[in-house]
Amino acid sequence: MADCTTPSATHRSGLKRALSDLGDWMARSRRLIMGVQWTVIVIYAVLIIVPTLLPLPTNVDRIWSHITIFAQFVFWGIWWPGVLLSMILFGRLWCGVLCPEGALSEQAATWSLGRAVPRWVTWKGWPFVGFLGTTIYGQMISVYQYPAAVLVILGGSTAAAIAVALIWGRNKRVWCRHLCPVNGVFALVSKLAPVHYRVDRDAWGRWRKPADSHRTVVNCAPLVPLRTLDGNAQCHMCGRCSGFRDAIALDHRPFSHEIVHVAGREAKPWETALILIGLLGVAGGAFRWTGSSLFIDLKMWFAETLLSLGADRLLDMVMPWWILTNYPANNDVMSVLDGITLLAFIGAEALFAGLIFAGGLVLATRIAGGWSSVCFHHLAQALIPVSAIGVILGLSMTTVMLLRTNGFYLGFIDPLRAVLLAGATVWSAWLSARIVELHATSPSRRLLATGMMTILCILAAVNWGTLFWTL
Ligand code: SF4
Repeated sequence: MADCTTPSATHRSGLKRALSDLGDWMARSRRLIMGVQWTVIVIYAVLIIVPTLLPLPTNVDRIWSHITIFAQFVFWGIWWPGVLLSMILFGRLWCGVLCPEGALSEQAATWSLGRAVPRWVTWKGWPFVGFLGTTIYGQMISVYQYPAAVLVILGGSTAAAIAVALIWGRNKRVWCRHLCPVNGVFALVSKLAPVHYRVDRDAWGRWRKPADSHRTVVNCAPLVPLRTLDGNAQCHMCGRCSGFRDAIALDHRPFSHEIVHVAGREAKPWETALILIGLLGVAGGAFRWTGSSLFIDLKMWFAETLLSLGADRLLDMVMPWWILTNYPANNDVMSVLDGITLLAFIGAEALFAGLIFAGGLVLATRIAGGWSSVCFHHLAQALIPVSAIGVILGLSMTTVMLLRTNGFYLGFIDPLRAVLLAGATVWSAWLSARIVELHATSPSRRLLATGMMTILCILAAVNWGTLFWTL
């Protein structure tokens, strides 16, 4: 019988072996990984603390001449967009190998009181509330501009992570699993990654402990149940379980696998809220408000309303810098009126996006075959690529602004944005088609529901596009 192994099958099995070896190497390299984590912790500490000890930069300072602008560029120009991009490519490798907050919380958890995690900590709404809270608070205190604001938000989050670790879950990352403000977004975006830790259930069942083996348990710090591990959402890709019971290995998979075949098994309303209200609404509003003429109009309207109510005191009232931006020396002060307008602007965008996209999803679900909450929430997952790329491009506005003010020519940036947004839209539309295929009750319904979802994906892209091409 002829050998039917094709070159591409050989290539795939070679890739499979290489990934599995990489996972095993990570499992053996804990000391090296911890060394990398401590290096990142030192860099992180320097970048959030040192700028708070120095005078604010002036107009003549540049990225290479003032550590505050350098830290601004690293955190908001490279770090955040880079972390989100890495989630799409490698899952939550950032969390397991590089995140200083996760590493510090795991270190602190070695001294933990080890109390049982209370129910309120495991509430599934925290990722939504945490993301909204930090995004809006960050805008109120101008986290992209001022080192003290960075220290409050990033340093405060790290301090909270350490405090949580000292109380609950010895050797675990309770903060990362339940309370980290970006856990929800990372869980969503990592579902797109083409690599994951795969569990072979048969091999797991067949496995018998060799007499000379001492490896009977693995400490999965983010509390993932290993035997039923099925996806990237909570796995930090730390590699510790690679090779466990000869059943777990790092492996490749199609970009669509988790969204199409895993994400729809149960309805996840908080994830849907995070996509529609958090990413498409609040994040969009947070990127948009500073340059929006609508913000000015809204502020005028609030000012007139307050005057007519006799509350003119609020027009000029200011707050401490840790509640609302207050840097008079830099001519940068937000009044209470600005704060109210900011909250209303972001709130309106969140409400608008939530209603439009939820309405579209309801329609697509009904067209596909009648109301089903599982189908509704599954279809929402198809919007992850266009939402994630939009947030990455929104974050990169700071990168572009900093590079331009430092004299770099970025003529390619608009075509690149257009290509990325178009690619993400096609990706989301394609995922929609695959999901609709699972739920539609007839070919004509399938066609119509896919059409409806495609319109939603284009709407999401247009919404992001207005950040760059009209305001
Ligand atoms: S399942 Fe847990 S131990 Fe395994 S790679 Fe993911 S985070 Fe690490």
